[in-house]
Amino acid sequence: MMSKPINTVAIIGGGPTGSALAFHLCKAGKKVVLFERRTVPPVTVGESLVPATIPFIRELGIEEEVRAYSTFKPGATFVFNEEESLSFSFAGIRGAATEYSYNVPRDKFDLSVERVAEKTGALIVREAARVERVGSEERVRLAEESIAATEGFLKEQPDLIVDATGRVRLLPNLLRLPFKHGSRRDTALFAHCEGVNQVIEGNVHTDILERGWAWRIPLPGKMSIGLVIDSDHIKTFGSTSEEQFDNYLKHDPITKLWGPDPKRVTPVLKYTNYQLCSERGYGDGWVLCGDTFGFVDPVLSSGLLMAFDSAKALATAIIAGGGETEMKRYEKHVIKHLGAWHQTIDHFYSGRLFTLFKVGENVKETIFGKLLNLHFQKHLPRVFTGEATTSRYSVWLVDFMCKHGLMEEDPTELRVR
Ligand SMILES: Cc1cc2nc3c(=O)[nH]c(=O)nc-3n(C[C@H](O)[C@H](O)[C@H](O)COP(=O)(O)OP(=O)(O)OC[C@H]3O[C@@H](n4cnc5c(N)ncnc54)[C@H](O)[C@@H]3O)c2cc1C
Repeated sequence: MMSKPINTVAIIGGGPTGSALAFHLCKAGKKVVLFERRTVPPVTVGESLVPATIPFIRELGIEEEVRAYSTFKPGATFVFNEEESLSFSFAGIRGAATEYSYNVPRDKFDLSVERVAEKTGALIVREAARVERVGSEERVRLAEESIAATEGFLKEQPDLIVDATGRVRLLPNLLRLPFKHGSRRDTALFAHCEGVNQVIEGNVHTDILERGWAWRIPLPGKMSIGLVIDSDHIKTFGSTSEEQFDNYLKHDPITKLWGPDPKRVTPVLKYTNYQLCSERGYGDGWVLCGDTFGFVDPVLSSGLLMAFDSAKALATAIIAGGGETEMKRYEKHVIKHLGAWHQTIDHFYSGRLFTLFKVGENVKETIFGKLLNLHFQKHLPRVFTGEATTSRYSVWLVDFMCKHGLMEEDPTELRVR
């Protein structure tokens, strides 16, 4: 389907995916224009990075800059109920390549990545790009006004149009591409708060609620809070997102443990219908990358890893020629990677994942448990840190153990309702 050599690339969307892709392509000598319409939301989701994201940030050369404005993240804490919680430190994971991560304010983080793209040679056009469908075919072109906005950088249609528009899903919507929807119909309500406590400083916290779950992501001077709750249920807490968020915090036995008087310091943003994965990733002269290709769920913080990993994989495919074989390989890689997260995240919602953690804690002092633990320690946690989500064996082991290793414990007690 990709017919000619790719020299000029138009990337639509200058989030982490688009900017990282621009960086890799410019380094390889491609001519890249990046359209970013940057509207400035009060806050943006996607603040907790898994450790496997760090090598990508190092490659962009921005780790020191990111460290300066972020919170150091040493591990993860899971709160099952009022009595039980489990924390683990990334440094304690056997075979971990990266033993820490960061929680990042996204406004600053996105600008850091965009600046690298610009320094490497990408032309940044700070306005929305418009794309048109060519007849009834599955082909697209940049609208004349978007070519004109490049002020002579593009003299004709680019060789490749990359859709990196995130949840906007520009090309999947325009071309009506087939997609799979996950099984949840939750609403995520998100805001920054002050006066919220932590079990372990800097850790990303995942709390199981009466209905749904919540995140607590410590940022410098404040806490990012997300309530991920069944869309019909959350409506019973008020008519606006703010009412629903504030009332829910006062209601749930778990959120009440977060502190006597949490204070919300931003408006509340609402996300719905985000569990979407396209079944196709490329066509004649276009390709999808990052969230617009697929996003599974916020719970294990896989989004930014997928953004950087898919940007790198797509750059590799384009630099290798961008022909049918390379694009097919790229598409397969992303679909497989999304599938691995999907499987693990399903085990989170069914309660099997946390039940497995608990069983592991209970048996690890026995001789049998000690032996098994050495092996599991190398594979299981590294699936959550993102280092082993592309390892067939590790992903299989998590799946197998969640299905067959629960030692008669009932997973439904820890399922997310
Ligand atoms: C509720 C929720 C919580 C999440 N929490 C986490 C988390 O803790 N950790 C994590 O890693 N991930 C998280 N994610 C996922 C994360 O936000 C995304 O995976 C990540 O932002 C994807 O990056 P991207 O560059 O593909 O898309 P985006 O970050 O969405 O960037 C897309 C860019 O395209 C631009 N754009 C759109 N249309 C146009 C146009 N026509 N012309 C020009 N520009 C355009 C937008 O302005 C935007 O800047 C969460 C997602 C959700 C829904």
